[in-house]
Amino acid sequence: MDHVIIFDTTLRDGEQSPGASMNVPEKLRLATQLEKLGVDVLEAGFPAASPGDFEAVQAISKKIRGVQVAALARTSKEDIERGWAAIRDAAKPRIHTFIATSDIHMKHKLKMSRDKVIQTTLETVRYAKSLTDNVEFSAEDASRSDRDFLCRVFEVAIDAGATTVNIPDTVGYSIPDEFGELVAYIRDHTPNIRKAVMSVHCHNDLGLATANTLAGVKAGVRQAEVTINGVGERAGNTSLEELVMSIHTRSSLLDLCTRINTREIYPTSRLVSMITGIIVQPNKAVVGANAFAHEAGIHQDGVLKNRMTYEIMEPATVGLDTNRLVLGKHSGRHAFRQRLNDLGYDLEKKEVDRLFGKFKELADKRKELLDEDIEALVAEEILRIPDVYKLLYLNVVSGTVAVPTATVKLMIEGQEAQGAGFGIGPIDATFNTIAKMVGSSAGLLRFSVNAITGGMDAQGEVTVRLQENGLVSLGKGTDPDIITASAKAYINGLNRLGYLKNNPSLKAEERRL
Ligand SMILES: [Zn+2]
Repeated sequence: MDHVIIFDTTLRDGEQSPGASMNVPEKLRLATQLEKLGVDVLEAGFPAASPGDFEAVQAISKKIRGVQVAALARTSKEDIERGWAAIRDAAKPRIHTFIATSDIHMKHKLKMSRDKVIQTTLETVRYAKSLTDNVEFSAEDASRSDRDFLCRVFEVAIDAGATTVNIPDTVGYSIPDEFGELVAYIRDHTPNIRKAVMSVHCHNDLGLATANTLAGVKAGVRQAEVTINGVGERAGNTSLEELVMSIHTRSSLLDLCTRINTREIYPTSRLVSMITGIIVQPNKAVVGANAFAHEAGIHQDGVLKNRMTYEIMEPATVGLDTNRLVLGKHSGRHAFRQRLNDLGYDLEKKEVDRLFGKFKELADKRKELLDEDIEALVAEEILRIPDVYKLLYLNVVSGTVAVPTATVKLMIEGQEAQGAGFGIGPIDATFNTIAKMVGSSAGLLRFSVNAITGGMDAQGEVTVRLQENGLVSLGKGTDPDIITASAKAYINGLNRLGYLKNNPSLKAEERRL
């Protein structure tokens, strides 16, 4: 059976989802999980886009040893130099360079002739090849490009040393038959195509990203570019879990496989949702809350029916185990530390000590703590530092007669500050008070509450979306008390807005692929 190379771009294209920016510790944590999931290539970022991107790609390159680490770069010497500087310490570095090949992009965006695009491709791929053997070339907006010109560009890129050529449906415009034909055309009309791996990169604007990717795979592509939960620009990218489980479930029909450890799919999905603040829709294929919801009904019928009457995949195959290890108030430091290690956290002793204190506090309120609770604790306590604002104390009075009032104590850049304010409800009072204390004029675009595990005593997980001066951030907070969770989410959103302000990045249209 042929392997399909899984190229994960959650950290690069996924991060381009509005508000999904991640800080360096969060990216490192996600990269570690992606390595455990078994992706073949991990696109860590776009180092020339911002200093923050550079730092994250460099940190990932130093830490992740078992997976190819790719850096995105435009077809310019400066971008490629910057990309290479960030990944040169990786065990298996890959430079991924791209240029637009559609007439509309060449004319309006690049202001380059076809000949100039060919020349630029030749020079920059050759330059990238002088730095590493592992070079990927992408023809941005390939699906709207002239087919023969596209073949010519790929031929030149392969001659210049590209080992992977990628065919992006940048704007999510293709439909499956058409996209499969495009791939077949490139395969049949690019003379040296066998010297490179063909790849596709699809967007989900018409809900066809997974279908288009499969059509590409059937036409001979052996690398698929995907993201966890399908996050990404606009409607997102092809979702890793959908593609991988399609190949896994229908492997005899497709005669293909991947190297993904499918049991890590669900934990990875949870982690991405938690870090980015982008909630998975309940009816999402494979990882949505309802994806296996008929399970209870089948259990009621006991073993009388065969599970396979209704289930094409088993929940356990994607890592949704019902008998997960549970920790409680009697669990000791050793068991706690072991669980952190099993979840992929390699923390310093003082971090473990701090977390263990918080774990005990939480375990006093709830009988059982699941992996999701522990992940949430780490996200709250470890991944967020260094934050500019931190919640120290919150007291809220509300009810049918009182005017909702919040008293808040914050740490603002190392200084304690206290404030109080009113609102139309307890959460409004809390947000007003915090906004006044930090001098923020950010608007609240969205507010949502979720229970992260089942049961009345579940921790509340609050997500906020904030906007200020055109920048959008997502903030997330968890706590058994939803008003406290809301305050944490709001503060997290403000910290992320601050991060975005201090790390000005390339404009969206400069970093599309
Ligand atoms: Zn993309």
